[in-house]
Amino acid sequence: MDIEIQLTGQPIADTIPSPLSSGSAGAWLEFRGVVRGEENAQSIRALEYEAYPAMAGREIRRILEGLATRHPCLAAKVIHRTGVIPVGETAIYVGVASPHRAEAIALLAEFMDRLKQDVPIWKRRGLPAEDQFKNSEPLASSLSPPSRVRVAARPGEGENVAKPISLNAALDEILTRCQPLPAMRLPLAEAIGRILRETVLAPEDQPSADRSTRDGFAVRADDPAETFRVVDTLHAADWKPRRLNPGEAVRVATGTTLPCDNLRVVMQEHVERNGDTIRITTRDAALNLRKRGEDVRAGQPLLAAGIRLDAGALALLATAGNANPLVSPSLRIVHFTTGDEIIPPDRMPGPGQIRDSNSYLIRGLLQPFHCELGQEHLPENPDRAKSQIEARRQQVETADVLLVSGGASVGDKDFTGPLLEWLGFKTVFSQVNVRPGRPLIFGTKGPRVAFGLPGNPLSHFVCFHLFVAAALAGLTGGRPKGFQRGRLATKLPEPPNSRETLWPARLGGDGLSPLAWASSGDVTCLAETNALVRLPANLGPLDPGAEADFLPTTGE
Ligand code: AMP
Ligand code: MG
Repeated sequence: MDIEIQLTGQPIADTIPSPLSSGSAGAWLEFRGVVRGEENAQSIRALEYEAYPAMAGREIRRILEGLATRHPCLAAKVIHRTGVIPVGETAIYVGVASPHRAEAIALLAEFMDRLKQDVPIWKRRGLPAEDQFKNSEPLASSLSPPSRVRVAARPGEGENVAKPISLNAALDEILTRCQPLPAMRLPLAEAIGRILRETVLAPEDQPSADRSTRDGFAVRADDPAETFRVVDTLHAADWKPRRLNPGEAVRVATGTTLPCDNLRVVMQEHVERNGDTIRITTRDAALNLRKRGEDVRAGQPLLAAGIRLDAGALALLATAGNANPLVSPSLRIVHFTTGDEIIPPDRMPGPGQIRDSNSYLIRGLLQPFHCELGQEHLPENPDRAKSQIEARRQQVETADVLLVSGGASVGDKDFTGPLLEWLGFKTVFSQVNVRPGRPLIFGTKGPRVAFGLPGNPLSHFVCFHLFVAAALAGLTGGRPKGFQRGRLATKLPEPPNSRETLWPARLGGDGLSPLAWASSGDVTCLAETNALVRLPANLGPLDPGAEADFLPTTGE
């Protein structure tokens, strides 16, 4: 069968010619899957499909070749569109040519089932109908106002979003808005580092039968004899159930499934062998076997939904036969830095300039999360910033999370708030009553979220751990890291302040040691920080031995 497969970001043409000249096939059957205006009972204006193109192409070919052995067809053509597909447009086209219609119909029906089940192409999400971006229009024309970014607060909304809210209220807003993105099944090798989205139960006892842990001889556990007759030899892969009589032994290897219950294994170093006879030279009480189900019993939970799949979890999934676990998609994150004073780290700062540290801070902080990161510096001129964003429109439009460093406050040049609005984000709050990190903007646009982070590195660090990490956990169905209770090893010398303070600290064996910092522009303490101590408003100083909440800052 001739097979042609295309995965494309482009619209699929309205007419596709048959690959065979007319007359050589009895039937040319065509199927088109079209995006409907509703997904999960919600009105949508487009669906976004994502794929692993190389893997998807290979899998589609494999499926078609397999089906062609049962339904002899002459040619098949599959075109799958990926990316954002507006309602009413074709997401998948399949054409099948065959000698008679019956083969083409049968192949097509089975192929569509298998495509859904086995091919790594998935609906990433529906784009809500009320979304401000109209996919078919260029970015610029869908934005208002068209030419200049507004700096003033929006009428009617300003007072609410500009009012500082508490840390807990901010976290609540973030967690209720950051719902898990649709999960997908991926081959185990692709799943490492992702969040597991299903609870995995043991499908069978583990081990599934009594297994030897030694090279040696299996005998009845209750057999007091000293000499035995070797009646069989079993290798690790052998499965030969049989009863053993008193005085009988079976030669076994490490990992061999024992032929019946109630045996023990005498290690070969403890016997003397003479032809078919063995004599035990050293007696001990060891059974030398792994009992059926001693690791886990069938039906017991192995892994809970929400954990990140590390090496151990992956090994467990493999052992349990879960070759395609349900996991979260990789997050797409765009990070913009702002500020005309910012220069790259390899340049010598002139007067008024400072080196960009936030790009590397954010890159490092995102490391434990499974994400694709795009970073760029924006000029501090709204119009130039806007045209630079337009140049990478696709990436910005499809990002799950948009982070903007700096310009989040109310200075003349601080334009992050209006910029996010211009991009279609609705501001949820723009200040949090914490220090460092008070000017923090959080906005949403359908399922996408944006943060405007205060530019100072320490504020960045605090806001990331407090808020951005919680959003990433919410979007991936992971578990947000919570505060823990600890004890101070040394004094936290801060007098009471009307704002809650997140104080950089080093958590060691003897407890939390608050680190010295003078301003949120400090970077020196960051390299040593592995926890943030939460000092409530109007409290302080805290003496050594005092209890305090803290947020660990290592890991995710
Ligand atoms: P902003 O939030 O834009 O008012 O910036 C507050 C402070 O953070 C200013 O001193 C900025 O120079 C500094 N800052 C902003 N962006 C960065 C960056 N990418 N790396 C280091 N410092 C920055
Ligand atoms: Mg700035």
